[in-house]
Order: sequence, then C-alpha cells, then structure tokens
Amino acid sequence: MLFVGICRLLSGTVSVSRAFPRHTVIRRSMASDSATRFDFLVIGGGSGGLAGARRAAELGAATAVIESHKLGGTCVNVGCVPKKVMWNAAVHAEYLHDHADYGFEAGHAHFSWETLKAKRDAYISRLNHIYRSNLDKAKIETIQGLARFTDDPEPTVEVNGRKYTAPHILIATGGRPSVLSDNEVPGASLGITSDGFFELESLPRRSVIVGAGYIAVEMAGILSTLGSKTSLIMRQNGVLRNFDNLISTNCTKELQNSGIDLWKNSQVKSVRKTDTGLEVTIVTKDPEKKNEEEKLSTIQEVDCLFWAIGRVPNTSGLNLSESGVDTDERGHIIVDEFQNTSRQGVYAVGDVCGKALLTPVAIAAGRKLAHRLFEGKKDSKVDYSNIPTVVFSHPPIGTVGLTEEEAVKTRGKESVKTYKTSFTPMYHAITTRKTECIMKLVCVGKEEKVVGLHMQGVGCDEMLQGFAVAINMGATKADFDKTIAIHPTSSEEFVTMR
Ligand SMILES: Cc1cc2nc3c(=O)[nH]c(=O)nc-3n(C[C@H](O)[C@H](O)[C@H](O)COP(=O)(O)OP(=O)(O)OC[C@H]3O[C@@H](n4cnc5c(N)ncnc54)[C@H](O)[C@@H]3O)c2cc1C
Repeated sequence: MLFVGICRLLSGTVSVSRAFPRHTVIRRSMASDSATRFDFLVIGGGSGGLAGARRAAELGAATAVIESHKLGGTCVNVGCVPKKVMWNAAVHAEYLHDHADYGFEAGHAHFSWETLKAKRDAYISRLNHIYRSNLDKAKIETIQGLARFTDDPEPTVEVNGRKYTAPHILIATGGRPSVLSDNEVPGASLGITSDGFFELESLPRRSVIVGAGYIAVEMAGILSTLGSKTSLIMRQNGVLRNFDNLISTNCTKELQNSGIDLWKNSQVKSVRKTDTGLEVTIVTKDPEKKNEEEKLSTIQEVDCLFWAIGRVPNTSGLNLSESGVDTDERGHIIVDEFQNTSRQGVYAVGDVCGKALLTPVAIAAGRKLAHRLFEGKKDSKVDYSNIPTVVFSHPPIGTVGLTEEEAVKTRGKESVKTYKTSFTPMYHAITTRKTECIMKLVCVGKEEKVVGLHMQGVGCDEMLQGFAVAINMGATKADFDKTIAIHPTSSEEFVTMR
C-alpha cells in the first residue's frame, strides 16, 4: 500500500516523500472530513481513465485511479483485445480453406479452442500487469474497489469506507452489456453476453446471437468461421443499420454467404432449457406485410445463446444524483464539448458519456482533458467528427466520415456525389472461396470534398487509417485522383474511381 511511509505534516496535510514524485502532496481536506486529497482522482481504470491519469501525472498532477475490477477496462479484458485475438484465429480458419488453391497440401487441421483461450488469457494477464506497473512507474496511486460519490459538500468519493477527493474528478466508468430480464423474455437469463463469450471454455457447436450491431456481427463471424453453426436474430432486415446503406446491405449479404443463418424481422420470444441444450423460440413478422400473421419458430439444441443488444453506462452505483452530476434518460453522463459535467470539478470521458463508444475516443478525451486541466491548454478537446471505425467482420469493414444518407440530409441531395466500386480482390483470383470488396466515396460541393469513405473487403481494416488522415485534412476527390496508385492492391481502387 503506497500510503505506508507517509508522514503527517501541519494540520491534516500529509506528504508522501518516496511513493510520489517531489511535486506530489496529498492533503486531508477540510470540506470532506478525513478525505485523502489528490490533484486528480480518476474513477475507472479502463481506456479513458488510464490515459487521462497517466497524462495528468506526466504533467505533474498527484493522481489516483480507482478501479473495481481489472486494470485495462473493457477493451483489454472483454473487448477489443481478446476479440481481435479471436478474429485473428477466425481469419486463420478462413485461410485454411485457400491452402489447396495456393498449392499447399495441408492435412486436416485440428482447432483447439482451449489452446487459443489459454494463450489469449495469458496475454491479457500480462497486459493487466503491464498496466499496473505503468501506473506504479508514473507514481499514480491505484485504489482497488467500487467508487461512489458521497454527499459531502465538496465532490468526494468513497471506496471501501475511505474517502478521497480532488479539485478535479474524472468519471471514466465505461459500460456493460445490456441484458433482458426473465420478465421481459422468459428464460433470457439462460443466455450470455459479450463478457461471457470470453469465458467460454469450448467452441459451442450451435450458437444463436441476438443483435445487429457491430458486436453481434463480429461474434457471429468469429463463431461461425471457427466452426459453430450460427444463427443471427435481428429485429430489422439487415445488420449495421446506422452504417452507410452499402455497408449494411453488403455485410448482411456476406454473413449470409458465409453460412450464417439470418433471422430477419425476428425477436426471441422465450428460451427454455432442455436435456439437449437451449430451445429458443423466435417470433418473426415482416412490418412491410401488414396482413401477414406472426410466425413462431424454434431453434433446438442451442449450446450458446448470446445477447448482443447494446450497452448501458456504468452510472447506477455512483450516487450521481447526490453529487449533482446530470445524466440522460439512459443513464449516460451529460458532458459539454470539454467533457465538463453539470458539477464543477467533475468530468466524464469514454463510454459512460454514450458517444462514439471506441477505445481511441476514450483515450483521446482523457488525454485532452489532462492537458486542459494541468497544462493550461484551454482549448484542448476532442474533435468528434471523422472518427474512423473498423468492424472486424469477415471480410472487415472500414468506415470514416458521413454516410451517404447523412451527407444528403445535412448538405442536400444536389451537392452530394458518390463514387462506388465492387470487385473480387486479387487474393481470390485463384481461390475457390470468394469474398467481394466494395468501396464508396461520399463527396460534397463543387470541389468534391471527400466527407465519407466506406468499404468492406479483405485488408480494409488496415487500409482505413491513412485515408482517415487524408479526409481529416480536407482531401478532395481531385487529391485522391492525383495520388499514384499502389498496384496490385485493393486500396488503389480509391484513387482510380470514376
Ligand atoms: C466486445 C467488444 C469489442 C470491442 N471492440 C472494440 C474495438 O475493436 N475497437 C474499439 O475501439 N473499441 C472496441 N470496443 C469498445 C471499447 O472497449 C470501449 O469503447 C472502451 O473500453 C471504453 O473505455 P472507457 O474508459 O470509457 O471504459 P472501460 O474501458 O469500460 O473502463 C471502465 C472501467 O471502470 C471500472 N468501473 C466501473 N464502475 C466503477 C466504479 N464505480 N468504481 C471503480 N471502477 C469502476 C470498470 O471496471 C472498468 O474497468 C469493444 C467493446 C466490446 C464490449
């Protein structure tokens, strides 16, 4: 415990000589009696919290991070990182189908989920240790436990019966998967969420995934590609409905082509445990066909029912109403463009704010805030436009900027021009297995400024970042056109579109 070895100074002020660098002074606060005081107190040791804490400490602030679970948060423990390991495994499985076409005589490959999980878990465990050691190296105090605001007059947080305060408190508590209660859907609790996915000890033989967002798409792709018979149940007639229409349509088609059983216009009505697995009853009704009756169907012998129906913010246990921090009707913390909440001295970043739920966004917001608070950079804030996103589907999706629909809505149909292409990537020229590559540029105005770029195809995940730089810099279609192509690649299509 870093508090060991601290020596008391004048009237309740405590200084730490060895545990913290010279600038660090921890004081007992007058307002919050007996609270330990830092310059910066961060609730949540995930992407946003850790980034903000480390940057603040670099800038000289006495900083503490309170974490109730594992350092690294969602991304490291039950999100981006283990998901990408699983996706990489699934890509291996896809390439196995192409070995013979490329002249390899490989025997029957046996896949061991158990080996993969053990290696993945060990990697994550290493990351947890690295995060802890980085905090220690930066002289950031780590407080293990669940934080909640007290009703002290000055913003104060209590963890395991001890109080902590700071002139600047950052809430970066992220979110968790939404679940349905058994009252809403009988037997719903027999299913798992993305958190449970990473605990699975073996590959389910028969999986049912409910949802149409990127997590549902990614999990369906991983499970199916690794050999689980997979069904995807969605309320509407396609996945990724908030993406550009081309992406939504193509991704839905690719899922279908890859052998995933799609249940459109469908919802789970009930779930029942039987001797041979779960029995999932589904109700299907096409809203276009008004006179058609609802259709009831069941999927039998399901090993794993997986709810991927959205995420909720981790705010309910924080006692925010007592502390004057406003939330919206879904519990997200309301912040302004500088991440200020309604309570002075209390800020929020990342998923808990409900906007652009992505690790690099949380990290950027945490760092920008630290520069504003501890380096006097008054204008330091995140630009939430043109955030590039990849969906690790099969093949992957890359998207940045406005969808065509958004461009038309905000700029008017007459000023929007799109360029599209679709082709079979050269990788598949000699393979029996095929996937398509589709690409779209959304341009606006006379100068044809590129405001949106959307693609799905082999390699699109690694293709996007550079294009995002160009779009952020205000590139026009003419700038794309005057760039010499890289041949033979898929990305060259973006600079040769007509
Ligand atoms: C399956 C999945 C896949 C994803 N894939 C990607 C991806 O490929 N790319 C990408 O950019 N993003 C991805 N994300 C999203 C990404 O993980 C989040 O956007 C990111 O982790 C948000 O960071 P955060 O700091 O806001 O919250 P988190 O990382 O969730 O951290 C919040 C932390 O706060 C802690 N906490 C909560 N309440 C308290 C409390 N009261 N007291 C103390 N501690 C508390 C939690 O234990 C947690 O560690 C994925 C998410 C999921 C679920």
